Amino acid sequence: MPELTRRRHNDPQRQGWDVYYGDVRVGHIGERAGVPKIVDQWGWTCGFYPGCDPGEQQHGIGATFEDARAGFDAAWKRMLPKKTEAHFEMWRYQRDADAWKRRMWDEKCRMPSQREDGQSNCFCGEPITNRSVPEHIRKAHRGIGNDSHSVRRRPTFGRE
Ligand SMILES: [Zn+2]
Repeated sequence: MPELTRRRHNDPQRQGWDVYYGDVRVGHIGERAGVPKIVDQWGWTCGFYPGCDPGEQQHGIGATFEDARAGFDAAWKRMLPKKTEAHFEMWRYQRDADAWKRRMWDEKCRMPSQREDGQSNCFCGEPITNRSVPEHIRKAHRGIGNDSHSVRRRPTFGRE
């Protein structure tokens, strides 16, 4: 079973971490924005979309990072037994499809839907149609949206 890891997000105003289960972003722990100093300064969310129903998403607050992390941990332990590989795959496909569309845009490739005959070519050269796009992304570009190899991560619940 993959370990949870965390990765600092790139908001210079606030400290915060995205939490990953393997390569799937399953939540966030971070300083809360715009709250008075006398209330808990840290918040967490647990859940991922697509893959979780909106009602399954959980969130909470804590006085310190450690408190928020403990809240997240408890929520994750409730959520994980209800999740199967298919849920994580839904999230991964969406991640890859978003990255694929950005790359198509960057490479100035037309989407099949932008052409009258419904046929186009992927940036890799492969012919694609509206119908074949999901399958093509899964088969030829799986992991295109996964940038985890280029970024250093830390264990979420281990030692600093
Ligand atoms: Zn392709």
